Amino acid sequence: MIPVISKLPQTGTTIFTVMSALAAELGAINLSQGFPDYNCAPELVELVNKAMQNGHNQYAPMPGLMALREQIAIKTEKLYGAVYNPDTEITVTAGGTQAVFTAISAVIHPNDEVIIFEPAYDCYAPAIKLMGGVVKSLELDPPDYRIAWDMVKRLINGKTKMIILNSPHNPTATILRKEDIDELSALVKNQDILILSDEVYEHLIYDNEVHHSMARYPELQQRSFIVSSFGKTFHATGWKMGYCLAPAYLMTEFRKIHQFLVFSVNAPMQHAIAEYLKDENTYLSLPDFFQQKRDYFREGLKNTRFQLLPCAGSYFQSVTYDAITDEKDSDYAIRLTKEIGVASIPVSAFYRKGTDKHVLRFCFAKRQETIDKAVDRLIKV
Ligand code: GLN
Repeated sequence: MIPVISKLPQTGTTIFTVMSALAAELGAINLSQGFPDYNCAPELVELVNKAMQNGHNQYAPMPGLMALREQIAIKTEKLYGAVYNPDTEITVTAGGTQAVFTAISAVIHPNDEVIIFEPAYDCYAPAIKLMGGVVKSLELDPPDYRIAWDMVKRLINGKTKMIILNSPHNPTATILRKEDIDELSALVKNQDILILSDEVYEHLIYDNEVHHSMARYPELQQRSFIVSSFGKTFHATGWKMGYCLAPAYLMTEFRKIHQFLVFSVNAPMQHAIAEYLKDENTYLSLPDFFQQKRDYFREGLKNTRFQLLPCAGSYFQSVTYDAITDEKDSDYAIRLTKEIGVASIPVSAFYRKGTDKHVLRFCFAKRQETIDKAVDRLIKV
């Protein structure tokens, strides 16, 4: 063996892969990794077939197909009032994770500090560390996981380069409110701090709340990379398609990395999505679609000994289990998979220190029969 110095000595395999593999091995109902167990729209599949048959099988342009970037610009302006130039400010990516990695690697230099809120989606910290950046995390607490902005202020100093936000939030299902936006705006005003806003669940927002995209607020928009995901929006996580929005001065740097990381994203799916996006109902129908699943799952869980945490957005429902056991969440998630046959994600995996608040995350982007089966099993706990 040739000696290799690990770049991420502390990092193991992502919890999504671990729990999905365990669920598959044990034949458990997989409510761990977030993905639908039903198919995406047949029209969308048909559009991909058509694109392939029409010969769109060679490289797409490096930043993405223009027709798709134009549709993204139209959607963004319609929803959030922000005008992005498809030529210079929108890039199609191979999913949200690639966009996040590319944005971080484009602007984070050694010793730059990046503020994240934990529990945090697990790809942020490793990307920061790989660039030599320093992760500054603020731990949030259930049940509300509110951001204490005065604590954020204390983390900011001359080295702070970026704040990473995620709304709707994975794994806690909270959303940023207008008060958060006001606090954030006041905090970054006159400071050279960038924002990376992970908005992959932008359309999964419930109870008639609005999604406070950074794109709505010009002073925030001007300093933000915004990441979105067609996998989440169109129930096609396996396509690994997403995009990044950023003002031209940031997008120039983003593309310098993107061109050598992936060059461009697969062409037929870009053709298909460009066409499909023309109908706004394809995404405007999502809150109703998922709210029904959320409510149905929550109703079912009320008959169990799990304690429900709020769910304002995303397709995740978290629960605490203090009435059941005082085991570590990681141990309990494994035992639940083995003994009850329902796989979940232990939320301690989203804290760098493994902070365990006895919270499990379930994904409810599932067919009603899957939810029924899972609830039937969870009732037995
Ligand atoms: N975003 C998905 C989740 O939170 C997982 C994506 C992945 O496994 N990379 O479950």
